[in-house]
Amino acid sequence: MRNLAAGNWKMNGVSTDLAQLRALVEAHPAPNCDILLCPPATLIARMADLAAGSALMLGGQDCHKDETGAHTGDISAQMLKDAGASHVIVGHSERRADHGESDAIVLAKAQAALSAGLVAIVCVGETEAQRDAGRTLDVIGAQLAGSLPAQLDCAPSDLVIAYEPVWAIGTGRTPTIDEVGAVHAFMRAKLLDRFGEPAQEMRLLYGGSVKPSNAAEIFAAPEVNGALVGGASLKADDFGPIVAALGRA
Ligand code: PEP
Repeated sequence: MRNLAAGNWKMNGVSTDLAQLRALVEAHPAPNCDILLCPPATLIARMADLAAGSALMLGGQDCHKDETGAHTGDISAQMLKDAGASHVIVGHSERRADHGESDAIVLAKAQAALSAGLVAIVCVGETEAQRDAGRTLDVIGAQLAGSLPAQLDCAPSDLVIAYEPVWAIGTGRTPTIDEVGAVHAFMRAKLLDRFGEPAQEMRLLYGGSVKPSNAAEIFAAPEVNGALVGGASLKADDFGPIVAALGRA
């Protein structure tokens, strides 16, 4: 299975930042891993034009559970696909916290993404308080149980899980390699229990303060098949070395 380097630009990026995408594509014309950028929805179509003919894929950062309707300000999975996206992140901890998204909502969004033909990247992760209370695996287990479809009615590669400890996002702090490996092994076991052998082919990403200086070490942890990168995906000079590290891992 090829590793996946996924960048999440969050609420950052205007037209002048398209230069970062050009630089990334030029630096990695034939990457040894899959590369995905999830810019704000306003940039997807323009990035898709720029990335045409390259290996770079585009994704949304969220989608509504419905195809269309009276949901002012929301965006559907179909709209993202129409704009040129192939992936969408659902259940990012910032959405769970800022918008009160429950596991049930995340599940509905993941199902909408899959129905629209998008790869769904489902995020899970414990808060610092949950970690300190020794509840990390319980929390991850419950989020997986509640946020994923009951059956794998899609290719295993269409469902990606991103383990993102909330306390590691944007803080510069990361779990130890042993901690990352333990959570990823736990997630793989849960997915195998739920979906059977095809779950071996599902990609498990780590996210939370990945940067060029720690990328190779994190990617050496067992069951890490890629990364979801926030801040360090905004500049090609930072994201490029992470892509290269995943290509070597
Ligand atoms: C994220 O928000 O998905 C993330 C991993 O952010 P950062 O890399 O900035 O910690």
